[in-house]
Amino acid sequence: MKRAWIVLACLSLVASIALSCTTDQLNSLMKKRIKSMLEDRAQAMEMLEDPDMHVILVGSGGPLDNEERLASCTAIIAGGEFIVVDLGAGTWRNVNLLNLPSGGLSAVFLTHFHSDHIADLGEADFGSWTQARKTNLDVYGPEGVDRVVRGFSMAYALDKKYRIAHHGEDIVPPGTSAMVSHTIHFKDPDEAVLFFDRNGLKAYAFLVDHFPVVPAVGYRFEYKGNVVVITGDTKKTPTLAKHAKNADILISEGLSMRAVKVLSDALAEANQPRLSKIMKDVMNYHIDPVQAGEVAQEAGAKKLVFNHVVPPIINRIVKSIFLNGVKDVYDGEIILGEDGMRFTLAPKE
Ligand SMILES: [Zn+2]
Ligand SMILES: [Zn+2]
Repeated sequence: MKRAWIVLACLSLVASIALSCTTDQLNSLMKKRIKSMLEDRAQAMEMLEDPDMHVILVGSGGPLDNEERLASCTAIIAGGEFIVVDLGAGTWRNVNLLNLPSGGLSAVFLTHFHSDHIADLGEADFGSWTQARKTNLDVYGPEGVDRVVRGFSMAYALDKKYRIAHHGEDIVPPGTSAMVSHTIHFKDPDEAVLFFDRNGLKAYAFLVDHFPVVPAVGYRFEYKGNVVVITGDTKKTPTLAKHAKNADILISEGLSMRAVKVLSDALAEANQPRLSKIMKDVMNYHIDPVQAGEVAQEAGAKKLVFNHVVPPIINRIVKSIFLNGVKDVYDGEIILGEDGMRFTLAPKE
């Protein structure tokens, strides 16, 4: 939460200079610091007025512990809407550190309910509310989203009650404190469903194959002639390329089967059968980077950006194994996603 961060930053500043600083100097330092923070915040809110479409990788990693990449979270800002797709652990903190307009959060879209995609839902709801969100928070997802929203709402209910009692209803209004779940239903499993259409930003959901996680979805965004597609977690499916058709940016999960197989074998050799089995199992419901390249090629996507990067890219060798062969199957631009990476798409129409 940015507010908490401001307070912590101020306190640490006080602690570090209190012994050697006059009150006037302290005042001046505080004012400067607060001014720069408010400027950052205003700049973040300006993104909501921008005619471009912004795509930001807030968390580009997978569920394995990873020093460089948090678990899944992608932000889309367009037409005054600020959407986050998935909220892996710690990603709400990154939303603030990346200076995104947290108080302007419009909606959360969840692809499925594995913990590496939902862990920060409570933080996002709570943080955007205390940052003066103007409405309740809409949370969209496949069947099951109502249970997830109910659970997080219950877990944070006491804290919301404390904040209202402490700061007052004018500061943290109870009327905007809730999450509202919206279940996306599919009549035809092969067809995408338009479920969000505000201020020119359209979002479609499509079913993917992350069995036994059923249903799981990916999302396609369209805004002023630009198309951004997020696969979510999935195997390569026959319909993925259709849903990603002509994407300007295809954000695909990527799990290097070769690297994960080596990891699984090494764990077995190290007498870690449980971990080895888990690593072996994950290979059957994800997509290998080369398969993602094939999807991008078939779809005619201009740019392929990997997120949900597994295993963690600990050095150049793992990086080259991860990307090995993608260029052979895909002609477009290939980008290994990193937290904080930003893409801007100017309107085409
Ligand atoms: Zn998953
Ligand atoms: Zn995942």
